[in-house]
Amino acid sequence: MEPFKNSEQRREHILNWLREHRVLSIDDLAARLSVSIMTVHRDLETFVNTGLVEKSYGKVRLRAENPQPSRGSVCGMCGSAVADRTLFTIHLQSGNILTACCAHCGLIMLNNQTGTYSALTKDFLHGRMVNVLQAHFVVNSRIQACCIPSVLCFATADDASAFQLGFGGEVWSFEETASHLSMTHHHKTHPNDEAL
Ligand SMILES: [Zn+2]
Ligand SMILES: [Zn+2]
Repeated sequence: MEPFKNSEQRREHILNWLREHRVLSIDDLAARLSVSIMTVHRDLETFVNTGLVEKSYGKVRLRAENPQPSRGSVCGMCGSAVADRTLFTIHLQSGNILTACCAHCGLIMLNNQTGTYSALTKDFLHGRMVNVLQAHFVVNSRIQACCIPSVLCFATADDASAFQLGFGGEVWSFEETASHLSMTHHHKTHPNDEAL
């Protein structure tokens, strides 16, 4: 196998291998990549910092793709602190992960971002990370968990509709929600923003 020219490429391969195998030894990775163990540790640093993988006893394990934001992590869009219950993550092909405070900011970020691999967000009822592209969103309900207008995510249309019955708002697909947000996002979005 050709040696990989840069850490960006190596990280991409590491992530693909981990998606296949879940757990790999650092030695094995170094051999596969024809680099030193130190280099593997360096390549893994971003993944470890974002919580995507964990290292122990010379092994690296892909955590269920359900990364927790590192402590004190802030939204890449509005800069507010990221709350676990509305966490939104964008996974780039480079292996980097962008974090947003909620689906409102996350969908706008996703719209502006190239080189994305996947995007996940918390199902508001069950707390599982779900694929954003297949999710259902309740927009503008009375529950303002984070940014305004409130955008809450649900894995199933049934859950979204049940939530809408109780708390109002509209149930939209990914495409509908994303295009709505891209038209309105020039407004200040976060309730904690100081008045202008
Ligand atoms: Zn935000
Ligand atoms: Zn938010």
